[in-house]
Amino acid sequence: MTGPTLRLAVMRGDGIGPEVVESAVEVLQTAAKRNALPLELVNLPIGLEAYHRTGRTLPPETLEGMKRCDGWILGPLSAGSYPKDDKDYPMASGRIRKAFDLFANIRPVRSIVAGKNQDVDLVIVRENTEDFYPDRNLFKGYGEFWPNQDTVVSLRVITRKACKRIAETAFRLAMSRHRKNLVTAVHKSNVLIEGDGLFLEEVRRVANDYPGIELKEGLVDSIGMQLVMSPTDFDVLVTTNMFGDILSDVAAGVVGGLGLAPSLNSGEKYAMAQAVHGSAPDIAGKEIANPTAEILSTAMLLQWLYSKDQMSSVGQTASDIEKATINTLTSSDKSKLTRDLGGKATTKEFTMRIIESLEKLRN
Ligand code: NAD
Repeated sequence: MTGPTLRLAVMRGDGIGPEVVESAVEVLQTAAKRNALPLELVNLPIGLEAYHRTGRTLPPETLEGMKRCDGWILGPLSAGSYPKDDKDYPMASGRIRKAFDLFANIRPVRSIVAGKNQDVDLVIVRENTEDFYPDRNLFKGYGEFWPNQDTVVSLRVITRKACKRIAETAFRLAMSRHRKNLVTAVHKSNVLIEGDGLFLEEVRRVANDYPGIELKEGLVDSIGMQLVMSPTDFDVLVTTNMFGDILSDVAAGVVGGLGLAPSLNSGEKYAMAQAVHGSAPDIAGKEIANPTAEILSTAMLLQWLYSKDQMSSVGQTASDIEKATINTLTSSDKSKLTRDLGGKATTKEFTMRIIESLEKLRN
């Protein structure tokens, strides 16, 4: 951290973004106050709102403002429907991940609510800067192009450096979790022989440095099925960008859906809270979105900052947010949950319950 005050950028995003980010901010402010953590929130424009004002979904002022903060909270972006004349087309969040080298996307999936698979506790560690994602896999230009009017070529980029550091992230995480001491490397090396061959080569090399952690390997199609049929068999999964993106939605479905799925984009210097889900245009503006994913992502950001600086009020704020959110999800009768979980609560009502639960902690 740059000083005693925790300075976080808040970028609300599109669709349900402003609703769920507002919830995360309210919960964060309450938890920080209870832990005497000085907090400054800096609102930065992003997404369609920024585009209508500046012609860009990721204005330079936002990138500059981010550099002056200790961490960032980002809401989902409707990147799939951004105007083609946006200078940051096609995707602001991909640009952020690349610009700040947020190479590791950490996506925990846990059983919290009743009535879904129980005892699931796994983390998908997804490489975040290359692979099939054309907005971030080239130094200059865009990794998809039309050689003629009837053909599109999409480039997949896999580098030794990115494979090595994502594997290291996964093994370190497996060590620190003290659960099954297991890393599962997910790939498709029977088809993507060279790219996923390189990925596996690096994962196996890193595994040699962690004799206490077992390495298993599996094809992405088969792992997709196993995640649905026996999700409790997993601990940490490590994989390339697109497989990780797809599998994390599958795994979220196993424990209750995207409303419960947090994630952190992290690198050596920076980290950004950003829920797994998108901007959910089908429910945007209706005040029924589940804010849990964005709130738990914010707790992950604080946990990451605590791991860097060991500032106890930051660590305590993170764990309070997590506890209060889980208490609310497990102790409320079902009708008090949001609609995606079978309840009737609005986003604001559910957020208020988390705040009440925060206020009961250590009383
Ligand atoms: P989505 O994740 O927005 O929604 C999928 C389904 O899950 C929808 O039925 C939605 O209502 C539901 N859902 C998502 N979050 C929820 C929440 N918090 N509470 C309750 N229900 C929730 O995926 P999509 O509809 O395929 O994509 C919509 C837009 O989001 C597209 O423009 C896409 O490009 C973008 N997107 C952005 C991100 C991101 O910014 N991280 C991620 C994925 C998709």
